[in-house]
Amino acid sequence: MTAVSVPTSTSFDLGPARALSCRECGHETPLAAEYACVECFGPLEVAYDFGRIRREDIESGPRSIWRYRGLLPVPSTVQSHPNTEPGGTRLVQADRLAKALGLRKVWVKDDTGNPTHSFKDRVVGVALAAARELGFTVLACPSTGNLANAVAAAAARAGWESVVLVPSSLEQAKILMTAVYDGALIAVDGNYDDVNRLAQELAAEHEDWAFVNVNVRPYYAEGSKTLGYEVAEQLGWRLPDQIVVPIASGSQLTKVDKAFREFGELGLVEQTPYKVFGAQATGCSPVSAAFKDGHDVVRPVRPDTIARSLAIGAPADGPYVLDAVRRTGGAIEDVTDEEVVEGIRLLARTEGIFAETAGGVTVATAKKLVETGKLDPDAETVLLITGDGLKTLDAVSHTLSPLATVPPSAQAVLDALAKR
Ligand SMILES: *Cc1c(COP(=O)(O)O)cnc(C)c1O
Ligand SMILES: [Zn+2]
Repeated sequence: MTAVSVPTSTSFDLGPARALSCRECGHETPLAAEYACVECFGPLEVAYDFGRIRREDIESGPRSIWRYRGLLPVPSTVQSHPNTEPGGTRLVQADRLAKALGLRKVWVKDDTGNPTHSFKDRVVGVALAAARELGFTVLACPSTGNLANAVAAAAARAGWESVVLVPSSLEQAKILMTAVYDGALIAVDGNYDDVNRLAQELAAEHEDWAFVNVNVRPYYAEGSKTLGYEVAEQLGWRLPDQIVVPIASGSQLTKVDKAFREFGELGLVEQTPYKVFGAQATGCSPVSAAFKDGHDVVRPVRPDTIARSLAIGAPADGPYVLDAVRRTGGAIEDVTDEEVVEGIRLLARTEGIFAETAGGVTVATAKKLVETGKLDPDAETVLLITGDGLKTLDAVSHTLSPLATVPPSAQAVLDALAKR
């Protein structure tokens, strides 16, 4: 009789992912479509056994998030899957913005360059690759907008069905940019937190639906690490001194921090100190409020802001955001809707980059953090611009118009310019 190999706890090939581990009590459970700890209901997170990973291995990979596949919970064959290919977005040296903000050196990580124009393509790419391995066939999500775009597009490209739930008050552009991919788009009369509750209910009933940010959330969340990896690699394999990250559920911020730590632990970068700063809109600033009050728990709020992509009143990762920001010596600030619009216009005017409201939140928060002495003006600063201004035209439309409307005459143009 030949030896039979003992089956391991799971037969899924999710690359370096070893298990799911509880962020609260550390209890480990085999890789599966689970998101809450059976012991304490705490959120689960992917735990890894990384092999040796060298810079050259990453550098020889594709110019997309898949160059980091050795650090993600996806099959090693992921490149051959018909995924979208997010990532590889530009890191822009933003000297004119730096000058306007009173900072010595600023880099803008411009994630508007992803397939559906926001960083959500990264998390959906990883969620889809993991969901396929876990046996799902339908991609689903509750969304504040950008996730809806990314899920519908990725599902279309993979030949999957999609079910997308959004608040009915969503920006028209984000509705259209989801509907065009021809999945099932459902507008729900309620805010994001209502839509999210609905998704949890449906996820429990439909076991073949991969709700990317609910039942496969541990995998989805890891996709945000690629933003941190890219920033460090594009800086020439080193960590920035300070980074400003917008907060919705807070997942992205905690994963950028995780990415920096992993790169340090794996010896891919020197373990230099860095500070993580969080940005919210005042109309939905539960994490900023908890930070300022010195609390460890985040009190839910009812969102009221033009920054709808960040309008999550009960952010799942709130406490972990507070941990990461406090541990690294950063801070969290929030800005009014008027400041958000000014932030969008400042970035456009200085760097030629048109960000959506979330980007306005990041830029305006950076400005406030400089003014209050929390961002060090001499330290190198990275701003994460996570979505495209074409998605939120309404936010700025009332402040913008042509300088003049004139008859087709050269003199009329010159007169208009002279009056400027
Ligand atoms: C979703 C989103 C964020 C933040 O995401 P979290 O990980 O939930 O904090 C930031 N910017 C944009 C444009 C988004 O769509
Ligand atoms: Zn637990």
